[in-house]
Amino acid sequence: MNYIVLDLEWNQAAYKVDEEEDLPFEIIEIGAVKLNSQGEKQGEFQMLIKPQVYPFLVRKTRELTGWTDQDLDEKGLEFEEACAKFLDWCGKDYIFCIWGPSDLTQLERNMSYFKIKIPWKYPLKYLDVQKLYALQEKEGKTRRALEVVIDRYGIPTDRPFHHAVDDAAYTAMVFQRIDRKNFESFFSIDYYKVPKNRWEETTFYFNTYSKFVSREFPLKEEASDNRRVREMPCLYCKKKLKKDVNWFSDSGRSYLAIGTCKEHGRMKGRIRLKSTESYSGYFAVRTVKVCTDEDEAVILQKRENLKQKRRERRKKNTKAAKEARAAAENTETKEA
Ligand SMILES: [Zn+2]
Repeated sequence: MNYIVLDLEWNQAAYKVDEEEDLPFEIIEIGAVKLNSQGEKQGEFQMLIKPQVYPFLVRKTRELTGWTDQDLDEKGLEFEEACAKFLDWCGKDYIFCIWGPSDLTQLERNMSYFKIKIPWKYPLKYLDVQKLYALQEKEGKTRRALEVVIDRYGIPTDRPFHHAVDDAAYTAMVFQRIDRKNFESFFSIDYYKVPKNRWEETTFYFNTYSKFVSREFPLKEEASDNRRVREMPCLYCKKKLKKDVNWFSDSGRSYLAIGTCKEHGRMKGRIRLKSTESYSGYFAVRTVKVCTDEDEAVILQKRENLKQKRRERRKKNTKAAKEARAAAENTETKEA
């Protein structure tokens, strides 16, 4: 299996009113580096794309990439052709490695827009090198810029930044410095396509957490009320946890719960509701993690705050209702 380290540059409409709804970002350059399973570099791929939707580069793209309209016109291929060449170059067995979560979605959006068959099996796993770097350096959820990380690892900067193939090369060099044995299991899941039905729904188990991705539901409530979404399997034995704190709403799109496995202890769950790519409905992502005493305190406090708010709202409503009734009775007395 190979690693395809991918980076894209894209262009957009100069004005929001000119934006094509199905394609807010049009890819103008594909850059990639192929590494073999040992992490050794096998080759590079670079291709400019002649834009068909937004024919003029906006200033931001021009300044960032250094490309001009003329460059793309003279050296670029149409996306359909460029993408076919790229997929061909990728080969058969590979996993994408990307700096940050967005490039893969942009590629899939462009492919759908130009009616290119997406050859990947879903759920699609990929490696977010930016995330792996943060895990390796114990930086939590911090997301560093590629330039910063290149500097930290003392990687020579003899190529320019913000050209797709150069950024892919830099990302590959960071990836080569990631301890793959320890961190490769922390793959990301692409949500461009969610499970079509409940048989396609999967729970992924990682070292310290699990992740479940649901199918699409027309309404948010259906997603958050679904029995399978609300289940909490133990990270280690996969048996259902006994719920100590049942799911409660933490915000409009997020729910929290705590459960216990007799054998493996306390775990916390979070459900996040997300809109599907086409905005036709919602799906849920449920994570289960080990729950520390501090985690429990935070969750219980959140639930207490919610109860308090509800109590206050009820009081206010009762008071308003009483006042309204008193006012009505007052008027009746006067009329009598
Ligand atoms: Zn267990």
